[in-house]
Amino acid sequence: MRILIAKEGLTFDQAVEAVRASTIFTTHTPVPAGIDVFDGELIERYFSNFAKELDVPLAEMMALGQTVPSVPGTYNMAIQGLKLAGRSNGVSKLHGHVSRSMFAELWPDVPVDEVPITSITNGVHTPTWVGPEIAELLDRYLAPGWAESGGGDWKRLNEAPDSELWRARERARERFISFVREQLQGELRERGTSEADLGWTSDALDPGILTVGFARRFAIYKRGTLLLSDVERLEQLLHSSDHPVQFVFAGKSHPLDDGGKEMIRQLVHFSSDPAHRTRFVFLEDYDMETARMMVQGVDVWLNNPRRPLEASGTSGMKAALNGALNCSVLDGWWDEGYDGINGWTIGTRDISTDPEYQDRVDASALFDLLEREITPRFYDRSEGPIPRRWIERVRASIIGLGPFVGAQRMVRDYTEMFYVPSAEHGARMAAGGFARAKSLAAWKEKIRSAWDEVAVIDVEGDVLAADVGENRSVRATVQVGSLDTEDVTVQLAHGRVGANGELLEPEIVAMQATECTNGTCNYSAEFTARSAGLYGFAVRVTPTHEDLVTDMDLGLVAWA
Ligand SMILES: *Cc1c(COP(=O)(O)O)cnc(C)c1O
Repeated sequence: MRILIAKEGLTFDQAVEAVRASTIFTTHTPVPAGIDVFDGELIERYFSNFAKELDVPLAEMMALGQTVPSVPGTYNMAIQGLKLAGRSNGVSKLHGHVSRSMFAELWPDVPVDEVPITSITNGVHTPTWVGPEIAELLDRYLAPGWAESGGGDWKRLNEAPDSELWRARERARERFISFVREQLQGELRERGTSEADLGWTSDALDPGILTVGFARRFAIYKRGTLLLSDVERLEQLLHSSDHPVQFVFAGKSHPLDDGGKEMIRQLVHFSSDPAHRTRFVFLEDYDMETARMMVQGVDVWLNNPRRPLEASGTSGMKAALNGALNCSVLDGWWDEGYDGINGWTIGTRDISTDPEYQDRVDASALFDLLEREITPRFYDRSEGPIPRRWIERVRASIIGLGPFVGAQRMVRDYTEMFYVPSAEHGARMAAGGFARAKSLAAWKEKIRSAWDEVAVIDVEGDVLAADVGENRSVRATVQVGSLDTEDVTVQLAHGRVGANGELLEPEIVAMQATECTNGTCNYSAEFTARSAGLYGFAVRVTPTHEDLVTDMDLGLVAWA
């Protein structure tokens, strides 16, 4: 923007329009601590000269990082992102939904579902995360070049016999266990443990036992110690004679997050108890190498955040590519990735307002799953040495999730939804000495100053409950004041009526202007009720312009 103002002679508002057209903002977390918010005095100190240089009042610049403009206040980088980007997204469907509510204040008159923040679900770079054992299978059964191409038809993996899939899983688990033993020895030697006291590490983990992995940043909302909330049930799993489970944990916390550090301390404490140190391991120095070994070697990938605070999560995607089954709260990507057979969900989508109660419910649901669903399936060898029912899920998980979790899909989504339209939009706004950026800035100015004149004065229509499928017509009188009918779009929203009189998932129909006199226009439309029962409609007016990404952009809507 500064370059455009200094070199192209644009005003601040024109530069905003030129930049917004080709700018994308991806919001990354619903957790407030994850968003940079600066003290307004810092902005004042370091950006006052900058504002002067741009010939813009500091307050106006400051307002880019604020919901309600104030000086000095605070400066929120996510708000700046949303205000300066023409296109914004969250990183999973659920996170898009959460972000629309979280930032709804920025578009005050707009229904939450129509807040202009969409979603593109994260993905992971397949060749980086697939282990050699599964890669060998993909080489054999998927289209050549699967690592670069995205794999084509993953159903081809149905041709791989159970025995091959199981052998790959077993070899990956064995390789992982050797890695864990070496890591433990390295960690203990570093701490000055004598060779004699290292002996137990060669028995750490058992290659024949169901192995569960959990590795992530230790942020409070990720609940890294959920399993420790019922040590008795945990110990029963560790020491079960017929269905034992072993766990590997890893992760770091933010240096300032004392809660996260405390969770690590509890896990390390539990894992160093000689009674179960060979079945419950904490690996230090979580990094990409450790992550790679874990997602490739475990049978189950555990994820138990407080819903809906996990924006996407990607480690479970890495695990899925390797045939590890996800056992996760319906949060982040798993809320849309879970299909009933490709893993397990801890609890439901109903979340209590009391987080501690929710923690107890989720811990209990997790133990239930491990005891009643996961271990019996893993150890079911009723049809020979291969756990057929387990492999069935592994296969469903790789085939169903492989094409979805790969970065190929994500990059395609960004390209089609964002990069291409943004690049074209930016070029269009810049052409002819930024002619369109200039006229859009002027048009917005006109709309903002005249919007008070816009109102829906009268609505006539059949308000009685109509039969499903019956046509109804609605007429509205709309005052556009000094604006032209081309500046606005008048719409009819219709749908079932909720408990508070609100429209549930309304359908939107454009209304046509029939005649105008002195800034007052008649509009009409017809609609057909889609369901029986209480059914309602509303009329609304929004500004419209061909260079807006969406009519909701300005957050101005006049309702009746
Ligand atoms: C994948 C990965 C993450 C992110 O995992 P989440 O599922 O988002 O918690 C963090 N750290 C490392 C080293 C990773 O490989």
